[in-house]
Amino acid sequence: MKFKPANHIQNLQYFGEFGGVNPSISDSSTYTFLSAKTMFDTFEGNADGCYLYSRHSSPSNLYLGEALAAMEGTETATVTASGMGAITPVLLQLCDTGDHIVSSRTIYGGTYAFLKNFAPRLGIDTTFVDITKLEVVEAAITPKTKVLYCESVSNPLLEVADIKGLAILAKKYNLKLVVDNTFSPLSISPVKLGADIVIHSLTKFINGSSDTVGGVVCGTQELIDQLRNVNDGAAMLLGSTMDSLRSASVLKNLRTLHIRMQQHSHNATYLAEKFESDGLKTVYPGLASHPSHELFKSMMNEKYGFGGMLTIDVGSLDKANALMELMQERNLGYLAVSLGFYKTLFSAPGSSTSSEIPEDEQEAMGLSDGLIRFSIGLDADIERTYKMMKACMVEIGVFKAETV
Ligand SMILES: *Cc1c(COP(=O)(O)O)cnc(C)c1O
Repeated sequence: MKFKPANHIQNLQYFGEFGGVNPSISDSSTYTFLSAKTMFDTFEGNADGCYLYSRHSSPSNLYLGEALAAMEGTETATVTASGMGAITPVLLQLCDTGDHIVSSRTIYGGTYAFLKNFAPRLGIDTTFVDITKLEVVEAAITPKTKVLYCESVSNPLLEVADIKGLAILAKKYNLKLVVDNTFSPLSISPVKLGADIVIHSLTKFINGSSDTVGGVVCGTQELIDQLRNVNDGAAMLLGSTMDSLRSASVLKNLRTLHIRMQQHSHNATYLAEKFESDGLKTVYPGLASHPSHELFKSMMNEKYGFGGMLTIDVGSLDKANALMELMQERNLGYLAVSLGFYKTLFSAPGSSTSSEIPEDEQEAMGLSDGLIRFSIGLDADIERTYKMMKACMVEIGVFKAETV
């Protein structure tokens, strides 16, 4: 049977205290009890439906977590104050001093910095690999390896992870496969393909209005209970708790995610095809020329398309900067990091979001100077957008004279 993530979200209904069509927001950090015994049981996590203190849990956070678990098809989920606030507790929960992680080398800059610079201070080492080569991944696994880590579609190079293949490796060596699915919500359902844990930065497509940071960990009840354990839970003790007001607003935005993803994908597909036929080096998983086009197709929930992210290479950082400034001047988008906004956002990853990655490593992974990463917006008339972008490119001299 096909997995239909948006249906699962829509099947959940929550009402407010007075019959409101949205759930009431639990605007409290602490909760009263009629009986001292129930208070103790709640602290120990043994009183279902009772709340003690909002760093532990709050009704608003549980609603949002439940909706995201429904989207990913996991038993449950826990929401966090940011994407990094989801990633770091999961890795610290799964790994002890002396343990080892095998990670894709093309991952979000913050995650890379954590694994490369911070986790070794705690005795947790990481081998970075080309995640598209399963034999390279397998060769990096040691008896100390506990986690396989990747992004379903990687930032910023849009490499696609073979989640089914990685899940087979994870099973074989008794590892946890952790997938950051930030770039492809609804399109890819990693747990359905065999992943153990799915993480999102809610900051991006899922919230979609660039007004907050947030994160989520989707997994088994056992894992989420461990993360929230008052004695040794990393999410509980590191304290990256989302505020209830925020989780209520993210839940409302989640209601339109399926419509937004379809429009992001539609617009990105249109532009990627045009840019490619104009002769620009274009990377988009929806293009037949993408090395993992067929793999993405084999994993995707078709309706939501290949996502809103694409990259082009305009040859040099100077041209990239000039083009981005001109496009911004013409109101085609914003020169800004992040993604998933209604407006197109563009940045040069080498000098921004991936600048944590040393230059020689950037080169080895194919992150070139002239690369521009686009998060394509919800433009109503993408044909007009394309024509205006093309005019900017011609003005900047992106094309050789004969192709104009
Ligand atoms: C933005 C991002 C993160 C980090 O999320 P924050 O909400 O900024 O902490 C992690 N992974 C990916 C793929 C991202 O794009």
